[in-house]
Amino acid sequence: MNDVVPVPGAELAGSAAEWTERYGRVLMNTFGTPRRVLVRGEGVHVWDADGRRYTDLLGGIAVNVLGHAHPTLTAAVCAQLGTLGHVSNFFTSPQQVALAERLVALAGGDHESRVFFANSGTEANEAAFKIARRTGRPRVLALEGAFHGRTMGALALTHKAAYREPFEPLPGGVEFVPFGDAAALEAAMGDDVAAIVLEPVQGEAGVRPLPPGFLAHARALADRHGALLVLDEVQTGVGRTGAWFAHQLPELGGGVRPDVVTLAKGLGGGIPIGAVVALSGRAAALLGPGQHGTTFGGNPVATVAALATIGVIERDGLLGRVRDLGDRLRAALRDVTPLVAEVRGAGLLIAIELGAPVAARVADDALAAGWIVNPVTPSTLRLAPPLILTWEQVSGFVDWLAGLPADQLLNEGGA
Ligand SMILES: *Cc1c(COP(=O)(O)O)cnc(C)c1O
Repeated sequence: MNDVVPVPGAELAGSAAEWTERYGRVLMNTFGTPRRVLVRGEGVHVWDADGRRYTDLLGGIAVNVLGHAHPTLTAAVCAQLGTLGHVSNFFTSPQQVALAERLVALAGGDHESRVFFANSGTEANEAAFKIARRTGRPRVLALEGAFHGRTMGALALTHKAAYREPFEPLPGGVEFVPFGDAAALEAAMGDDVAAIVLEPVQGEAGVRPLPPGFLAHARALADRHGALLVLDEVQTGVGRTGAWFAHQLPELGGGVRPDVVTLAKGLGGGIPIGAVVALSGRAAALLGPGQHGTTFGGNPVATVAALATIGVIERDGLLGRVRDLGDRLRAALRDVTPLVAEVRGAGLLIAIELGAPVAARVADDALAAGWIVNPVTPSTLRLAPPLILTWEQVSGFVDWLAGLPADQLLNEGGA
């Protein structure tokens, strides 16, 4: 690694223990102790500073859709950086315009649809929140369990008290409706609601898909009251669920057309980029000149990364592969061990619900065995692997789960 990434003045050799110790001395303590020090990746594998190999079943939290060091993505980004890397939004680039066109087409937009580029999921939601405010209406409805990001606006839309309360007062007007409760959403609606903001599958809450029909109901309510329907597909978008966007899946929202879709995580295949796709003409026109902005958003490197990512997903038929592998993997996980109480998700966004709150311990053991998974709640393991994953690469994880001492974990965890 040191010889391929020369950093003048910085010595990048060292053991994992040394880097972890230095991390604690210089990085803010927002993430806890890093699980490993990673130095290299290729395909679905990464290697740590001590030379150990892991199969990455989390994909940088649903980001590395093409895995690590994908040759097409790498070539596109390197070529772009060597040609024109950043220009500010006083200027545009062919990559930026082409990506906006591509996203509108994939999301089923039309000539009135418009895109705003940001650099992350929270920023994309921040922009969506500002669009909602521009309706002039004071209330915004979100769901219990919702996660929309960590900046103040997106945090106001996020339900978890531990994330919100240390930073109050937050932007006002947001109300939370019980998850999946169509009657409660209906009761909360009114002509003073600017927007209903939903994740088709709640990711951080533990991969909880909206119940069938809920999105269509939300669309009908938004229409009846003149509100916007905003879908946060930061985690579920860009092929993750086996469709370009989760709301296009028949079981989730097939046929529902949101006013706004926000994207980030998987969009750039690992290069930071977020996007707000305003599909309806009304939503697309709400932000006027000077009302929003960004220095980095939509720069040529980020947008070419997204074009390459989308291009590879399409070229390699990954959407179909994600559906097939996701179905096979979820089916296999259901029966593998009595430790598994339920398996949820769509495509390659998968929750393994354990029968006891032992997810952190199981994830630790998995890591030691060479599998990266995420204990997204005390009892839930989340998988969001690269979309290039094969059955041969993941079946060993199913076998590994089968070998866990299920009774012991259930008893200890329940005790
Ligand atoms: C991760 C996530 C965000 C926040 O994205 P960042 O890039 O971390 O700011 C917002 N919404 C959803 C649904 C997410 O999963």
